[in-house]
This record gives sequence, structure tokens and C-alpha cells, in this order.
Amino acid sequence: MKIEALSYLGIDLGGTKLLIGEMDSAGTIISRKQYRSGFLDQTNALQVIEASLEDYLRTGRIQYEKPPQAIGLGLVGRVNNALGIWYQIDARRTTELKITEILGRKFALPCYVENDVRSALKAELLFGCGQQSKDFVYINVGTGIAAGIVSGGHVLQGGHCNAGEAGHTRVGVDPGVEIPCECGRVNCVEAVASGSGLDKCARALIHRYPDSILSIPAGGKPVEVKEIFEKSGRDPLCARLVDTAALAVANLIMNLVRTSDPDMVVLGGGVVSDRFLFPKIQAALDPHTMRFVTRGVEITRLDPAYAGLMGACTVAMNREFSN
Ligand SMILES: [Zn+2]
Repeated sequence: MKIEALSYLGIDLGGTKLLIGEMDSAGTIISRKQYRSGFLDQTNALQVIEASLEDYLRTGRIQYEKPPQAIGLGLVGRVNNALGIWYQIDARRTTELKITEILGRKFALPCYVENDVRSALKAELLFGCGQQSKDFVYINVGTGIAAGIVSGGHVLQGGHCNAGEAGHTRVGVDPGVEIPCECGRVNCVEAVASGSGLDKCARALIHRYPDSILSIPAGGKPVEVKEIFEKSGRDPLCARLVDTAALAVANLIMNLVRTSDPDMVVLGGGVVSDRFLFPKIQAALDPHTMRFVTRGVEITRLDPAYAGLMGACTVAMNREFSN
């Protein structure tokens, strides 16, 4: 039987995997296929996207009645949603690409693009906590940390499409040693509480804990966040990493609450979605600071495995969320 519903095609590009799939207008993912990404720069990433999308259209969506309505991209880095430009992955990879024009022409479909965190925020706005709140903060705590801010139903974009890079703020915690951050500063919340930050902190502190049972892998492999959590009950280094990360995220939440006055805070991303850190984060929140956050602090209800894909598909819907 063929699927008759309208579908929106999403491309969720992460550092190691690329997920392509389709969602109906009610927010249900109806098909998906995973590819390897492993890109070096934007030009290389575009080649990976094109080859994977060709494969998906050939093999991934045979049961559909109609072509997808549009393509939506959720990309890491700085993205201009209005102009369809992918400016940069990070400070070192800055090949500006008119990616919606290139893909739109090649695949003969309307194409839209957004930063990965803001695209997940848009899925949250349409299908998640946006059903209850029009003033909320979404904080992604994964390999990195970034925030999306919705104020009065509008997504804050910023003058240079760079709003919400709250991972690069300092939050008054002392990791015990200066941890250099990608952005050039030290001890940013991303450098102490994200997946990459926990890896950096573990490596910087391990010599002070010669009896630690935490494994520090070689060969470019990161320290497993899950292992840090599991061993934190019996390993002083892991306990310290967990306590610092939880306090750092709690302070970030309170800073954003003071900055944007939301009634709800939603957390997503691999470091928080297993809920291990969540009670520790909540315990570090000051009730007075949080008094107007009447709908509470929650872990996203969107499936963390597909939140990025839902975000990209939501971008394909091209709804107006910006002011
Ligand atoms: Zn930083």
C-alpha cells in the first residue's frame, strides 16, 4: 500500500552520521535511512549530502504516492535561514555555500536550511513543548552545547544568525584546571559539561586521580560519557566530573532564565537525554531564580534519536517562526 500523506524530507547532518527521512504534517517520521557523514568541510559535506540523497530517493521512499513537498536541512554551524546560506561549520571551516539553491536546483524541490539546534527548536515549537508554551528555552547538551530561545512564539535568530551560542558562556564553576574551549576562551560551559568538554576535563584531571578506574581511550576516541556516569558512585574523578557538569548546566539554565524570562526550559541532547544528570541539575536550581518558570524544566519528549531529523523535516515545512 502506498502512503498518500504529504511528506516533508529532512536531512540531519551530524559529525559522524547523516540521517535522511520523511515526516508527515502531524510530526510522525514515516521513513528514514542512515548514512555515514565524516565530512571535512562544507564542500565535502555537500558531496556527501548529494550522494546520500540520491540514494535515499532511489531506495528509501518506494512506498510513497507523491514526491516530498520540500527538502529541509539541519546543519551544524552558522546558517542564514532567510538566504539559504551555510556560512561556516566552525571558526576553521568557513566556505560559504548557497546550499538551498544548489540542492533545490539539483533535486527540483523547494529547499530550506537551518542551524541544527534551531531546527530541533522548531520541531519542539511545533510538535513538543511549543504546544504548551510560547516563551521557552531549549538547551542542547550533546557533543557541544547551544541554546534556542523562543520569545512570544518567535525564534530568536540574531543579527548574524548566531543567537543562542550559550555554550560559549562561562558559568562560574571551577573544573580544577583551565580547560581551553574551541572558541578561544577557557572554561566555557561547553568545555566542562558537554560530551567533548567531559572528555577534555577527564584528560586534564586524570593525573590527579592515579587510582581512577575511568578509561581514557587513545587514538582520537573520546572518553565515554556513559562510563563517567556509571562509575561516578565509586570513582572520585567521575564524581567530580558529574558534579561540575550538573552545576554548570544548572547555572546556564538560570543565566538563560534571567536573560529571556521563559515559562519553560527544555533539555535535549545525548548528555542529558538518559536522565542521569537531570536530578542533579534540578537540585542545583535556585527556586527564587526559577520562580517564573511555571511550566518547569523538562527533558524533551521528542525521541532523542530522531529529534534532529524531525527538526530538519520541520524546516522543510517552512513555517514562519522568526521575527
Ligand atoms: Zn567557548
